[in-house]
Amino acid sequence: MNYIVEPEKQVEVIAKPDVLVVGGGPAGIGAAIAAARNGAKVMLIERYGFVGGNLTIAMVNPMFTFHDVNGQQVIRGIAGELVERLIQKTSSLGHVSDMTFDNASMTPFDPEGMKLVLFEMLQEAGVELLLHSVVTNAIRENNEVKAVIIENKSGRQAICPKMVIDCSADADIVARIGAPFIKGREEDGMMQPVTLFYRIGNVNTANLKAWMKENRDLLKDSPTDEEIDSNQALAFLGLKDLVKKAIDAGEISPDAAPRILMYQLPKEGQFAVNCTRLQGIDGTNVYDLTRAEMETRKQAWQIHQFLQKHVGGFEDSYILDSGVQVGVRETRHIIGDYTMHEEDVLSSRSFHDGIACGTFAIDIHPPEGEQQVFTGSGKAVYEIPYRSLLPQGVDNLLVAGRSISATHAAFGSARVMATSMGIGQGAGTAAALAVKNRLTTREVDVDEVRGLLLNQGQYLLDADVEKMVDSKLVLNRGEGSGANASHFNPFANKN
Ligand SMILES: Cc1cc2nc3c(=O)[nH]c(=O)nc-3n(C[C@H](O)[C@H](O)[C@H](O)COP(=O)(O)OP(=O)(O)OC[C@H]3O[C@@H](n4cnc5c(N)ncnc54)[C@H](O)[C@@H]3O)c2cc1C
Repeated sequence: MNYIVEPEKQVEVIAKPDVLVVGGGPAGIGAAIAAARNGAKVMLIERYGFVGGNLTIAMVNPMFTFHDVNGQQVIRGIAGELVERLIQKTSSLGHVSDMTFDNASMTPFDPEGMKLVLFEMLQEAGVELLLHSVVTNAIRENNEVKAVIIENKSGRQAICPKMVIDCSADADIVARIGAPFIKGREEDGMMQPVTLFYRIGNVNTANLKAWMKENRDLLKDSPTDEEIDSNQALAFLGLKDLVKKAIDAGEISPDAAPRILMYQLPKEGQFAVNCTRLQGIDGTNVYDLTRAEMETRKQAWQIHQFLQKHVGGFEDSYILDSGVQVGVRETRHIIGDYTMHEEDVLSSRSFHDGIACGTFAIDIHPPEGEQQVFTGSGKAVYEIPYRSLLPQGVDNLLVAGRSISATHAAFGSARVMATSMGIGQGAGTAAALAVKNRLTTREVDVDEVRGLLLNQGQYLLDADVEKMVDSKLVLNRGEGSGANASHFNPFANKN
């Protein structure tokens, strides 16, 4: 290995906020807005020219999942407000039934509307936003993050906050200061595959509905005419045998997902496609990322041609756009004061320091092997404990979003976007309280944090919270769902 030594250099300190949030994805948005609303001076750093993380940057759609199997909304707060505002801007139809997996609800949205609404919400809360800025380093002094270093067109700059919330999804700050983490699965470090999401435009939905009715047996759960006609947002999972034939014929890469999964978006004729796939990619390795971008874009075109050939309504469609970057499902998990386990999710565990709820199934795209495996299917509503946000050995740093302290399995549920935003809201509220009372992250009164969250519209287990039940979303699908939820494969005995 060749090395050079960078010359020492003075770096200008451009800000000293109370709370610095790193990364403007669902977790970072929740954290920044919550901290600002609770009185902190907040700065949010994002490497791209807009915020949203996977909501916008990786073009992931829909948001999962706000409702339990009884149709009760268990993620509210800032994430709930966001959906209301998207509806007002005709950028979402709100929560609709999930026709793909056995979750009670899904929440599709228009990513362009999302970009605008997120800016508005941050601005209204008084968050200072710095875009086009990559966090490249962090400086630790004893048990504290003393400075965070960013690079942008203006050069190299330093920020010295009282509290940091790492919402980079890769736990970049944790890694830079040498706090403990693992990558991927506990036993072998393998991670879920990456997927480039893309949007298809000009789909003829009337023709697609007719095709779905004629080919229902190719689709998971063979949707009825009523389901196809009544659902406000079409979605489907299936075509496994046809995809296999296309792979065998060399028309689709064998690395791609072995089925078609896509979701109708609020704008007429648009669908979001979750079908490309590449295994063995480490999202913190630039060479792997480069390979993934090139390979998954090739797959996107192959899969679109497949859809045009085999699925009614897609004949005149085209690829509208794709994620600014490939979607990375899993990288680092911090080692926190508490590590969430599969049993915590499946047994609907509540915690004395629970700061948000999750109810999505444990959804694992295995790092090897073919089929996506779902466990629990939204049967459980569980809490995320505040201790899972606390990296060991640091007292002014919180982590929110997909890199909290959780096993590969528990992460498989808690990682989704509605839950990530809820976790962010919990982190932001705690950070603001810590600053206000001049406490460390571990000294914060978690009862007070929970009280604030409840007062500010969040839902927590074991609290006296008004029910918000949407009877349209009660899940009643037998196999793999509701009371029968268990380990299952969405393709078992299905086409
Ligand atoms: C292919 C795929 C499909 C998925 N499907 C769904 C789905 O259908 N529904 C669902 O709800 N969830 C889904 N998920 C899960 C979900 O998208 C993520 O787990 C969730 O977005 C995590 O939120 P986050 O805020 O932790 O991270 P992210 O959404 O990844 O946001 C992280 C943010 O930090 C920024 N950032 C990172 N590093 C730096 C840095 N060094 N400096 C500055 N900024 C930085 C990024 O640009 C980004 O804006 C999917 C994920 C993937 C990858």
